[in-house]
Amino acid sequence: MTRERLEEIRAQLDEINLEILELLSRRAELVQEIGDLKKRKGTERFDPIREKEMLDRLVAANPGPFDDSTVRHLFKQIFQASLGLMEEEKKELLVSRKKRTEDTVIEVNGVRIGGGQPVIIAGPCSVETPEQMDAVGAGLQQHGILLLRGGAYKPRTSPYDFQGLGKKGLELIRKTADKYGMAVVSEIVSPSDIEMSLEYVDVIQIGARNMQNFELLKEAGNVRKPVLLKRGMSATIEELLFAAEYIVSRGNTEVILCERGIRTYEKATRNTLDISAVPILKQESHLPVIVDITHSTGRKDILLPIAKAALAVGADGLIVEVHPEPSVALSDAKQQLNLPQFAQWMEGLKASGYLPKQEPVPVK
Ligand code: PEP
Ligand code: MN
Repeated sequence: MTRERLEEIRAQLDEINLEILELLSRRAELVQEIGDLKKRKGTERFDPIREKEMLDRLVAANPGPFDDSTVRHLFKQIFQASLGLMEEEKKELLVSRKKRTEDTVIEVNGVRIGGGQPVIIAGPCSVETPEQMDAVGAGLQQHGILLLRGGAYKPRTSPYDFQGLGKKGLELIRKTADKYGMAVVSEIVSPSDIEMSLEYVDVIQIGARNMQNFELLKEAGNVRKPVLLKRGMSATIEELLFAAEYIVSRGNTEVILCERGIRTYEKATRNTLDISAVPILKQESHLPVIVDITHSTGRKDILLPIAKAALAVGADGLIVEVHPEPSVALSDAKQQLNLPQFAQWMEGLKASGYLPKQEPVPVK
């Protein structure tokens, strides 16, 4: 083979490469068009029967020198790449950072959640009695707490455990919060109670056990009230974001994500706090992210370092359970701080420099 012939063949190959590329690009455009049509019709974009037909037709027409399996392999790659093109067009979630770059800031009782300064949500596990609520309200007010938590509907593991006071509990926490200039954060477990709860709560909590109660999520999406959505105990970060999407896609854009620990084999803590979920959620989503330090650990002795860790990785706030007399609490007795312990914890946290210097001023 002469040198000139070699150059000539190489030039031809370069030309053919360009032609193949042009054909592939044309093919890709057609695939995209099909994708658009299917999207409008709402049909699945990947059609394995059609793919098999195309491959069979190509193999039947194979002139060689490639063997049939090579032809199949080559075209499968082309089909795969085209399908990839259709997937790239996949709709970004509304909760995604890609959809909105600025942080969502949710204002409750003059407190900005997600505004760069961490907030503290404190209160008992369950709303129990007027005396209990009054004592905790008065105690927390002294520390400038503006967001009062307390469960009226308790999704308990055992049906024989205290199930909460229900609507009476909501009335009680509302009364206490009003008296002490606080906002109410309380869990709702049933879709049919969402509407009713609007009169009593400022933030609807959806608990870990209900993170994938899709009817509840939809109902919470239909109202205009901030929602605190807790990560399910066996839910992935992606599943938490999809759960939030259920709410946001219905028009309720005010969702606060909450990492509260996931279930692992470790028994030293009640759950394992997935600390890396915080910066990941902050990266992936524009929604505020808070950490429930009580339910994630289930123990009181490590709450200060855990709180610091949560704030160090960018949490927008913390949830901590506080009860005037934890030993007689009707739920989660072991893990709730009493008021002096809470005071000490607050002091430690303030000294750490993670909390805002000035207490936010209530607007109510
Ligand atoms: C709660 O906050 O009262 C609670 C029950 O927590 P979780 O849903 O995270 O278990
Ligand atoms: Mn609890």
